Amino acid sequence: MNRIETEKLTFSKMLRIYCRKVHKIQSGLCIKCEKMNEYALIRLDKCPFGEEKPNCKHCKIHCYKPDLRVEAKRIMRIAGPHMIYRHPVLAMKHILKSGKR
Ligand SMILES: [Zn+2]
Repeated sequence: MNRIETEKLTFSKMLRIYCRKVHKIQSGLCIKCEKMNEYALIRLDKCPFGEEKPNCKHCKIHCYKPDLRVEAKRIMRIAGPHMIYRHPVLAMKHILKSGKR
């Protein structure tokens, strides 16, 4: 699995955790999160760095629209800690990547 695919998978899983916790959706995603997911996947597909992509937090481009960027930060903050337990491998990849910038 390449970097972009891994990020897509990680993001979708985080969104799923976030939606269940915050929007109380039991399975799948609410309409708002579904849109967010779509948007994020498109952004990743269009990421000009491709395999060289830095962690989004450290990226200079900030390709998200401002309001969605705020939303994405919230999702990471809320779902981030849960990733360690639910998807340890993905979470580790994410953490390792953040560490080396
Ligand atoms: Zn939701």
